[in-house]
Amino acid sequence: MNDNLLTVNNLVKRFDISGGFLEQLAFENGKLIRKHTIVRALNDVSFTISSGETFSVVGESGCGKSTLARTILGLYPPESGEIYYSKKRIDNLSSNKMLPYRSKMQMIFQDPYASLNPRKTVHQTLEEPILFHKKSISKKEVREKISEVMMQVGIDPLWGRRYPHEFSGGQRQRISIARALMVDPEFIVADEPVSALDVSIQAQILNLLMDAQKERGLTYMFITHDLSVVEHISTRVAVMYLGVLCELAPAKELFTSPKHPYTQALLSAIPRVGEQRSGHIKLRGEVPTPINLPSGCVFSARCPYASEICKKEKPQLKNVGNNHFISCFL
Ligand code: SF4
Repeated sequence: MNDNLLTVNNLVKRFDISGGFLEQLAFENGKLIRKHTIVRALNDVSFTISSGETFSVVGESGCGKSTLARTILGLYPPESGEIYYSKKRIDNLSSNKMLPYRSKMQMIFQDPYASLNPRKTVHQTLEEPILFHKKSISKKEVREKISEVMMQVGIDPLWGRRYPHEFSGGQRQRISIARALMVDPEFIVADEPVSALDVSIQAQILNLLMDAQKERGLTYMFITHDLSVVEHISTRVAVMYLGVLCELAPAKELFTSPKHPYTQALLSAIPRVGEQRSGHIKLRGEVPTPINLPSGCVFSARCPYASEICKKEKPQLKNVGNNHFISCFL
């Protein structure tokens, strides 16, 4: 593994969902006041990703993992915090200055049915990013590049004139991967890349991504709610809950020795062939709303080990050895 490719320091992202002036008005103690409703999507998130690694971010829906991915790629401006790519700060760059990084950092979306333009052929879909990022490229070079990438993802280059509806879900996801590879990226964020696919196709797409990583030296950030997907492909895994990083560890270490109570509960829910479900940890209550986060530890309302201090103070992410970080007073 090489140097840090991506560094995220104390990243905070909030969304103001107050709506218009009239929607903000509310009565409180008999007075008419203007109320702002803020979703706290990312709360002081810090980590690094080394060049060549597969870094997975897992957590339930609404934990902030997709917001994290989009903020890193510059699709959302952060509230505060810093993002460095190859030691260069990128969170404060203008759109123009961000352009060279956009070709190095690509994204694969969850839904291959929605992420491809139904009116564009495969050829048109694949030529779009390369024509945008490499203005001086010739038509011949574009054609050659499209053939090369289509072959790499297992789609016959002769199908370049077909439209997305003529392909299956797995083939469409291969085309989405091809689109990301067209500009020779270094870093790919894959947001739930296999969750919309049949189980039999999931392994093929994961294998394709792993092969592309070996051939091109890619660095991946995988976003998923499915821990079983990341177990065998990840170098390190980060677990998020309500916009907070609860645990971060090398994949093997996290799956064999989870330390945070939330990770323990998540892992206990993975069905294993030949194992009894007696160890399944059932969490009490619902996930609190990110509009009204609990004070202290964000997991305190559902944690079976919560004590008084957990309700008052926020635990910080600490290294407990073997590059295993947890944010828990235990
Ligand atoms: Fe549970 Fe307290 Fe640890 Fe939070 S800090 S996970 S509430 S024990």
